[in-house]
This record gives sequence, structure tokens and C-alpha cells, in this order.
Amino acid sequence: MLRSRSPFCQECGRCFDLEDLPLQRVEVERITREVVRRLQERAGAFGEPPKAIVGVSVRHVHLTRDALAALYGPGHTLTKLRDLYQPGQYAAQETVAVVGPRMRAVERVRILGPLRDHTQVELSRTDGFYLGLELPVRASGDIAGTPGVTLVGPYGSFTLKEGAIRADRHVHMSLEDAERWSFEDGEIIQVRAMGDKEVIFGRVRVRVSPDFKTELHLDTDDANAADLSCGDVVELVKR
Ligand SMILES: [Zn+2]
Repeated sequence: MLRSRSPFCQECGRCFDLEDLPLQRVEVERITREVVRRLQERAGAFGEPPKAIVGVSVRHVHLTRDALAALYGPGHTLTKLRDLYQPGQYAAQETVAVVGPRMRAVERVRILGPLRDHTQVELSRTDGFYLGLELPVRASGDIAGTPGVTLVGPYGSFTLKEGAIRADRHVHMSLEDAERWSFEDGEIIQVRAMGDKEVIFGRVRVRVSPDFKTELHLDTDDANAADLSCGDVVELVKR
């Protein structure tokens, strides 16, 4: 059966590895998000619990210009595969292999754009076991003292001294939602995922910015534990 991939997702387990996206599914996802957005507005008015869309972050890398040149050749620029849900962020067509100390490689790890001022590799605990890495849980950008890995591209390789992490659980939140629900940037909350695999996630960091749309980011281990896929809806709980 052909499984579809959300046009907004970071490649959740359900969507991973599929290049073609049925248009009908794109439309369903778009409408789902619009309905959720309107429900959120109503919920705010009636004091119902705040909710967020789920974006599952499959393993991926953020690169500097130098790293991209080493992997794909001097002057190479990323080709957009599709936009992510967060404005300005996109999945590139280009991928790399990640090699760890056990000399095993995880292949076809997606590069996310745009380029950044540090190179960062976001993996799951499961990936860490496979590669032989003990990956600390860190907020994006907080990479001091984290393990290094070697990236391999079609042009060459690039070895990081540090930068391999498991991303912390976080909710990107728009300014409007933060004000409506009284959440602050940096606040730690809980997230409740319903269903057969109901889970309450603790230590979820709220990140507020006018550049964000409200969305929970989980790695694949967390998402799989709670049966969550991109586009699902979870409840945000104040501690
Ligand atoms: Zn995120």
C-alpha cells in the first residue's frame, strides 16, 4: 500500500522514504490543519485545553556552507524537496550518510535547509545504539561537548568534532497562541498523547517566536512510543 507523506512533516516514520505524494492527501492534510487551527481559536474562547499539531523529526542534519562544500563540492547549493511546517524551513533533496565509531553508517539522512552557522546532526536513541554513540538530549544549537560523527556525501566526507544530539522535546509556538494560552518562551510543560498508546511527555520546552507556527516536535523514538505521526493532535498541559 502506498503510504502518503505530509507536505509539512519532517518525515515521520509513517511518511519516511516516499518521494511521491498523492495530491488528495495533501489537500486532506491542509484541511486538517485548518480545522485544528479554528478549533484552537474556539478552544481559547471556551477555556478548553490548548492543542498542537505533531511534527515527527526523523534523523536529519543541519549544515554550514563549509560542510556542504566538503560533502557536495565547492559552490553547491541545496535543492528544496519541500517546505516544512515551520516557515522558511525546508527538506533538501540532498542527503548524507552518518558514520559513527562502530564503523556503521546510517544512510540517506536528510539535510534540512537553510544552511546554519554550525553543523548539527539530530538522531534518535535507536540511531545512537546502532552507531555506537551516547547522544545527549539538547536544545537545537546547544552542542558544546556532544559527540562527533563523520558525514559522507557524493563529493567527500566531513568530520564534526561535536554536534550529534537527540533534540529535546519542544513545541514551536506562535505569539498569538502563547498569549492566548499564557505560555512563555522557555517554559517547560507536559504533552498528552491520547489513544491505545496514551503517553504523557514531560519536560517539553515551549519556544515562542513570531516566526513559528504551533507544532510539537518529537524524535521518532518518542513518536513511535505514543503511536504518533505527523499531523496528529496532542494536548498541551501546564505544569
Ligand atoms: Zn523543532
